Amino acid sequence: MQREINGNLSLMYFEQLRGCSALAHAVSVRTDPADDGAEFDLGWSPGHDPARVRRRAASVADALGLDGGLVCGCTQVHGSSIACIDEPPPDDPGVPWRMCGECDALVTNLPGITLLVRVADCVPILLYDPVHRVVALVHAGWKGTLAGIAAAAVERMRTRYGCRPFDLLAGVGPSIGPCCCEVGEDVAGRFRSGFEGAGRCMMMNCRAITIDLPEANRLQLLGSGVLPGNIEVAGLCTRCRSDVFFSHRGEQGKTGRFGLFAGLRP
Ligand SMILES: [Zn+2]
Repeated sequence: MQREINGNLSLMYFEQLRGCSALAHAVSVRTDPADDGAEFDLGWSPGHDPARVRRRAASVADALGLDGGLVCGCTQVHGSSIACIDEPPPDDPGVPWRMCGECDALVTNLPGITLLVRVADCVPILLYDPVHRVVALVHAGWKGTLAGIAAAAVERMRTRYGCRPFDLLAGVGPSIGPCCCEVGEDVAGRFRSGFEGAGRCMMMNCRAITIDLPEANRLQLLGSGVLPGNIEVAGLCTRCRSDVFFSHRGEQGKTGRFGLFAGLRP
């Protein structure tokens, strides 16, 4: 990925996707140059003041040339449900973005809308069809990976928008890496029995079993027909680089969220 200052923001970009003229996208990092030492935290839960988070999310959308008033997010629940956005959901002043319900992937073909998924170790994935001009974002932790959320998003793009998997470009963003994703026997067992290709994304070191979640999702996309040369993997571990990204494991659960943003240029 490339990191650049864009206006007052420090943002990262997938190199391959950056070449797509109709697509705007970015990954936010945890420093907030606009807010004097504050962190660029997109973490929010119901009942909390949305103002600061709303300003941050809108500032990224605006910097990307999209509409800061049309950021669409969801309540991420580690499942395999997908929201297709045909029109922007209503704006609720108590929520920092237009809320698309409980799901772990957002898809749209509407220009101007900004999709947002928020993570701190889970895998954020961008899918883009430059032929049909459809964009999707996926939030895939180990549960969502096991539930096949990335494959489900490709399938929904195919059935709902006519996308062909071999046209899709994919970016697999910063997440906890194989270096740091130790799992217990329970999770390992669920992967062995429930994930095709488990043998290629699980490792055993002297201390523990680890899962390579970005690789698991890459394999899942390949299984859906996405071409290997069309998938860019960031290769950045959030726990190793908790100076740049929020890391749930690296900070014992007490941390913020960074975002993957994407939308079609109006
Ligand atoms: Zn690591």
